[in-house]
Amino acid sequence: KKTIKIGIVGYGNLGKGVELAATQCDDIELVAVFSRRELTETQSGVPAVSLDKIAEYQGKIDVMLLCGGSATDLEVQGPLVAQYFNTIDSFDTHAKIPTYFACMDETAKKANTVSIISVGWDPGLFSLNRLLATSVLPNGQDYTFWGKGVSQGHSDAIRRIAGVKNAKQYTIPKEEVVNAIRSGECPAIKGNEVHLRDCYVVAEDDADLTAIEAAIKTMPNYFVGYETIVHFISETEFNEKHTGIPHGGFVFRNGQTSPGTNHVIEFALKLDSNPEFTSSVLVAYARAAYRLKQHGGSGASTVFDIPFAWLSPKSGEELRKELL
Ligand code: NDP
Repeated sequence: KKTIKIGIVGYGNLGKGVELAATQCDDIELVAVFSRRELTETQSGVPAVSLDKIAEYQGKIDVMLLCGGSATDLEVQGPLVAQYFNTIDSFDTHAKIPTYFACMDETAKKANTVSIISVGWDPGLFSLNRLLATSVLPNGQDYTFWGKGVSQGHSDAIRRIAGVKNAKQYTIPKEEVVNAIRSGECPAIKGNEVHLRDCYVVAEDDADLTAIEAAIKTMPNYFVGYETIVHFISETEFNEKHTGIPHGGFVFRNGQTSPGTNHVIEFALKLDSNPEFTSSVLVAYARAAYRLKQHGGSGASTVFDIPFAWLSPKSGEELRKELL
């Protein structure tokens, strides 16, 4: 039975992912998609509505899933929408999370709505696993690796080099380091030493390939200091093999409970589509926001504050039967 009514704000990769994820949940009904653009249709056939008209949907939508970009959209759209609705977002500009939280908390408390911010996988499921592992093993060492995954920023940087038609950069954790940590070792590591940058480049017909490769490998802030591999491929191969947005990674904590007694906690994600997965996390947290509101909540929260049971469509009684 569809009991929770949701809306999507922003119709990009994440917006379309939420649309897809909602169809897999029996208790969630997508009511409308809100966009700054004049969209004529949506993939699922739900109405596309101008963002200017969002307030008219008050009372008709329980939770709005904010799918705008973290760089500039969410700081504007978050407080705007939280005046009227409970919200979920995937704000991931790490340094600005405390300020964004304070702003959303103030708005949501005034409006008596709830907002769960920075939901996704990192921040999100990775944050939860780091918290869980550190609480259980206070004496230990944390490791996070990202990839294999597409870095949009690095792919864009390569595309700006003269002679480059198209490019994709994958960040890949070095297997030997991951395996050492998995076996209980606690090496001192730096991000640039444990990830390599794998680049697939389609060059213009008359381009100087040696110059392009050198331009990539010597690019400050992006590639300098990293092991970087450059592959030149045809446009056909690029379109066949490199149009997806895969991502993932590992969160480890290696800890000791007594001298010589070691424990390894590992959480891993291998995602064929970063936005489709992130959207599935957002939809599960929309259910939690609905429950939080029912329990009298108001103001902002993060994934740390939400009981796991609220993510599930099952009741507490049903879940308790599955404890063992
Ligand atoms: P997109 O660039 O696809 O979409 C962002 C916004 O841009 C949309 O809401 C949409 O707003 C607008 N837009 C989309 N397509 C077009 C277009 N063709 N022309 C003009 N405008 C367009 O971003 P993503 O959906 O991929 O990601 C959104 C955010 O999600 C990221 O900024 C990132 O911070 C976050 N994220 C978080 C993760 C986590 O683990 N916490 C993981 C992955 C992503 P409108 O419809 O109003 O125009």
